Amino acid sequence: MKTHSSEIPTTPLPGPRILIIEDEAPMRAVLKDILDTEGFRVLTAIDGEEGLQRAVREKPDLILLDIMLPKLDGFALCAELRCLGIQTPVLMLTAKGQVEDRVTGLDSGADDYLVKPFSIDELLARVRALLRRRQKRTRAVAALKLGDAYIDLVKQTARRGRGNIHLTAKEFAMLRLLAEAEGEPVTRDRFLDVVWGYAAFPTTRTVDNHIANLRAKLEPDPENPKWIKTVHGVGYRLDL
Ligand code: CA
Repeated sequence: MKTHSSEIPTTPLPGPRILIIEDEAPMRAVLKDILDTEGFRVLTAIDGEEGLQRAVREKPDLILLDIMLPKLDGFALCAELRCLGIQTPVLMLTAKGQVEDRVTGLDSGADDYLVKPFSIDELLARVRALLRRRQKRTRAVAALKLGDAYIDLVKQTARRGRGNIHLTAKEFAMLRLLAEAEGEPVTRDRFLDVVWGYAAFPTTRTVDNHIANLRAKLEPDPENPKWIKTVHGVGYRLDL
């Protein structure tokens, strides 16, 4: 008898645990419903303090985090988690969808964003992508060593010998994306999507300019990059 691999359900079993931190009851109920239906095990918290406590105590596999929350907002909560060394993937929910929110979120350690209102399909796609990435994530991604330069992607610090290398939040985010791709090319669109956000105005040229800056700061010979390689017609990849 033939097996039908295409019929294997895509929902991981047993379902990963997802913590929803959202103060608005209707939105919380909708999210819980969607995720329950897909086989995820759902935990909820109604404000930032409760959310932080549950995140620390119950170690969920993923956190859906609203930004505007009573007691402790999403940015502060996320920064606190990262400060405690908790690397649970965080999908931030923002009502505004503004560029500044995304940048602040990246600075505070969020992994991805979803702009309200969003479709169920979009929510589930992001959740699954983050869970997959978490499974694949290795310790190597927490830090990078490029020659004599050491880049801590968690603390967002970089140094060469005793000297600090100043990298911007966007440059750290770009390096992290490259590192997580494990040598595979990252497209310009993907950079724009993750580092700048959908609503942003930058063009693919912006990505090239930032790559040039990164090379100038990190590569011994920026004209002939050793690590941050161009993949013609596609984007960039990290060659370690
Ligand atoms: Ca809210």
